[in-house]
Amino acid sequence: MHGYDLLVVGSANADLVIGVDRRPAAGETVLGSDLVTHPGGKGANQAVAAARLGARTALLARVGDDPHGRLLGDSLREAGVDTAGLLTGGAPTGVALITVDPSGDNSIVVSPGANARLSPEDVRAAGELLGAARVVSLQLEIPLDTVASVAAAVAATDARVVLNPSPPAPLPAEVLAACDPLVVNEHEARYLLGAGAGDTPESWAAGLLALGPRSVVVTLGAAGALVADPAGHVRIPSLPVNAVDTTGAGDAFTGALAWRLGAGDDLETAVRFAVRVGAAAVTRAGAQESFPTLEEVAAL
Ligand code: ADP
Repeated sequence: MHGYDLLVVGSANADLVIGVDRRPAAGETVLGSDLVTHPGGKGANQAVAAARLGARTALLARVGDDPHGRLLGDSLREAGVDTAGLLTGGAPTGVALITVDPSGDNSIVVSPGANARLSPEDVRAAGELLGAARVVSLQLEIPLDTVASVAAAVAATDARVVLNPSPPAPLPAEVLAACDPLVVNEHEARYLLGAGAGDTPESWAAGLLALGPRSVVVTLGAAGALVADPAGHVRIPSLPVNAVDTTGAGDAFTGALAWRLGAGDDLETAVRFAVRVGAAAVTRAGAQESFPTLEEVAAL
């Protein structure tokens, strides 16, 4: 019995954003705009993206016993995410301190906080949640040990693992072998492949498949995405949209992709849907605030 289309295991952060005329150099103080606080973190973003589309979604994550943690719980519940797996305590809620200058360039300091305390023990204790999901989606803003323990637990079930290795880090072979698909952007692909990556998305996909995942999706920004598995590859174009802010587009894409896989779509069909969700997300400012409903995707 699958109670959820999708379980996301990942991070939940408060994004603290200040606009500045100029980002400060070492030793310098600058005055900025009023502080704006947004719910964020790749795990929470993916869960919100999927739930807003109508997916039965749960999140396994850890926040602090503090106002930022409550902000995240509220935003997740408002989007319809099941928060039974939102654990509390151990450290303050993870925070991203973001300064943005008028050109849109930003500087970011992340304090992982409670995200760094989401442990393999937490994964073991969440066995029921893991057993109830068709697809489990992972990123790397939580400890790699924890990611590996989820991949191992899912291997014993009929569920499917989706991994976006962001921020990129070296991945153990067992984790790579569990991915179906591994979802990367250009930067993550080049990181995982190192020298000799080649210069085309097709060459990255071939190189990544050789590392062991069952399938690979390379996101290509305005150009859409490439889907590849050992049987072949296909490019899925994006839709022409007026891009306003690409923050969170990758999370919306991957949350949507993971949901459609959980709902029974094949990979190519799921990616055709996910590029529409990614395109919709770039037409509005912000991350979670920009994620579309199913009606908005259909109207695109
Ligand atoms: P990331 O945000 O992780 O770097 P991408 O920039 O590749 O990832 O974007 C993820 C997805 O969002 C793309 O595959 C695409 O579907 C969509 N997307 C991103 N930028 C645009 C854009 N300018 N126009 C249309 N779709 C976009």
